[in-house]
Amino acid sequence: MKRALVCGAGGFIGGHLVKKLKREGYWVRGVDIKAHEFASTQADEFLLLDLREPENCRIALTLPAPLPPNLGRSERATFDEVYQLAADMGGMGFIHSAECEIMHNNVLINVHMTHQAATMGVPRYFYSSSVCVYRDMQPGEPELTEAEAIPANPDNEYGWEKLYSERIAQAYGRRYGMTVRIARFQNCYGPEGTWTGGREKAPAAICRKVAEAPDAGTIPVWGDGAAVRSYTYVDDTVDGIYRLMHSELEGAVNIGNPEYVTVKELVETVAEVAGKRINVEWVQGPVGVQSRNFSNERIYSTGWRARVPLVEGIKQTYPWIEAQVQRSKDAEERGEGETMRG
Ligand code: NAD
Repeated sequence: MKRALVCGAGGFIGGHLVKKLKREGYWVRGVDIKAHEFASTQADEFLLLDLREPENCRIALTLPAPLPPNLGRSERATFDEVYQLAADMGGMGFIHSAECEIMHNNVLINVHMTHQAATMGVPRYFYSSSVCVYRDMQPGEPELTEAEAIPANPDNEYGWEKLYSERIAQAYGRRYGMTVRIARFQNCYGPEGTWTGGREKAPAAICRKVAEAPDAGTIPVWGDGAAVRSYTYVDDTVDGIYRLMHSELEGAVNIGNPEYVTVKELVETVAEVAGKRINVEWVQGPVGVQSRNFSNERIYSTGWRARVPLVEGIKQTYPWIEAQVQRSKDAEERGEGETMRG
């Protein structure tokens, strides 16, 4: 039985990755600075640790002694596979208002986790990067390949930190013979992710606003609706992580749904799924880049494809967020609003 460590298992993609690894038959330890608020499937073991501290990274990477009986004998004292998804992050609102926290906290997590993993002999290490490493694009531009992240000009500090942490992982991989796999995710969405509180990303924020609005109501949305994005359903993202981790692909690899839509089209899709007529008031806010268009040829070479079209993914996501909105309303009516939303 293989042993996997998922860092950031209390978060959205990490929580779904734990479920995937359990389905694949792994023994999984999750680690995070907080417990998962929603995830229905749990890791075999979950440790609450702040991974900005090197000693906590060492503890996270050390297998339990004695090993649980179902793990059999171990050649080494650490994990077969480490998936590093822990990050201080959120949607555009958070990325533009918390530059220092993002650069400080995420560099510390990645510097210490990569160093400890490599020096403790982890054979295979996954790092979760982002398409935020790329420059802004104009609608209609041809696809950017992974190599075209350099010369670098990311739109935000989050992207610079990701580029640096990709390079840390690769440098340690070369020095210590650790196999390193790096995914650059496009926007990922689905149930059991942050949906309120300021860190939520566009699909979750729009689902929440539509769920809160009456039929024929008006919701505020940042920008003018023309920005072009693609959104990858979380099951596709974790399938991509798993295939990439077990592939021979060196260097960074884009993982994204090639279905590009404007923000206006995203709102229309959510409204259609909700069965509501929705008006939009376009307001000033941190929109981020104008457009996106990335090559997925490298991940396609593993047999991966995005299987879930946007409308199908929203059909899974919207009812879950609508239920959270209802739960939160009910709690507010009982005078427990802060607990639910905090
Ligand atoms: P998330 O915020 O839901 O999960 C990240 C987790 O890291 C959180 O549970 C958080 O508590 C944990 N964390 C933060 N600081 C920590 C610390 N000091 N010690 C231990 N744990 C800590 O985010 P997500 O959407 O699941 O993203 C996972 C990874 O994928 C991140 O690296 C993110 O940058 C990357 N990514 C996500 C997207 C997306 O659309 N969701 C897109 C591109 C890249």
